[in-house]
Amino acid sequence: MIFACLTLVLCSAAMAADRTPKKFDMPFAATTKEEALAWQKQVRAKLLEFVQRQEPRYPLEEVPLAVQVGPAQDKGDYTLSVVSFQGNNKTGTRFEGLLAVPKQKGPLPAMICLHGHGGSAQQVFDPKGLYHGFAERFAQGGYVVFAPTLGHRKYAAMALWDLMRAVEVLRSRPEVDPARIGVAGLSLGGEWTMWLAACDERLKAAVVSGWLCTAEGILSVPNCACWQLPGLLELADIAEIYLLIAPRPVLFESAERDVYLPIRYTKQGHARIRAGYKVFSAEEAAQQDVFPGQHEWHGTMAYPMIDKVLGGRAAQVQSKEN
Ligand SMILES: [Zn+2]
Repeated sequence: MIFACLTLVLCSAAMAADRTPKKFDMPFAATTKEEALAWQKQVRAKLLEFVQRQEPRYPLEEVPLAVQVGPAQDKGDYTLSVVSFQGNNKTGTRFEGLLAVPKQKGPLPAMICLHGHGGSAQQVFDPKGLYHGFAERFAQGGYVVFAPTLGHRKYAAMALWDLMRAVEVLRSRPEVDPARIGVAGLSLGGEWTMWLAACDERLKAAVVSGWLCTAEGILSVPNCACWQLPGLLELADIAEIYLLIAPRPVLFESAERDVYLPIRYTKQGHARIRAGYKVFSAEEAAQQDVFPGQHEWHGTMAYPMIDKVLGGRAAQVQSKEN
């Protein structure tokens, strides 16, 4: 199972539901755009502070990115290389990923594509499986794609600085238009997408697949506890964290039979996000793709949405799944 950690299976849903705060410290209550912008600034600063407490951030001048690019494999419409970069640490730990570069004249739009629990860069390119090859689809649609393999940590948010470094990897590429970078991910990758898009305004669009829910919803079923960064649960409902992305476009993929994210809670979460986006006069920029599937990538609304915002043509690519 991609989302459940064994340690948590024993966690009682009833007990967990009791842990949903009755009152949050900084709920979204803005009624004007000015208030909403002020709320974003305060909440983003809080989130960065919470992450910093767990994982100190090193600037690139202190710990350089030191990108290494392996030989390029010909994949038809694009080339694929193993790329590694120095992570946000002083232990020398590097992260590997797959970089796809379309055989087109740049500057090109780009996507960060993120795997879930137990996943890898290879899996997000694989047309078979939960990810339905969404990274490959973006590459075939004219996007430079970087899919890092980041692994599991005590708290998902501890990967934030490394996610921002992955954005730097894309920005360092001559083919990439730095003004057109987006992010997409499934499950834990959806959670990382939330963190990255919420905290880094360089991301212009986001697809959060299999992660949108309310705190009450996530706590109502057994789920890995890595989302519970100390301070986060009390700050605001997890669905409101997406309001830090506003008014940038965001799409949520929510499967009707996702056992980790009960659909009624994901719909409640989306309604709350839409209401928040409305304060930015951008209600239509927060869409939800509810589909009759399980905990998996869908793509039906995601490809056209990303194409519209970033200017690629992933929606026109023939699916390789059949
Ligand atoms: Zn986890």
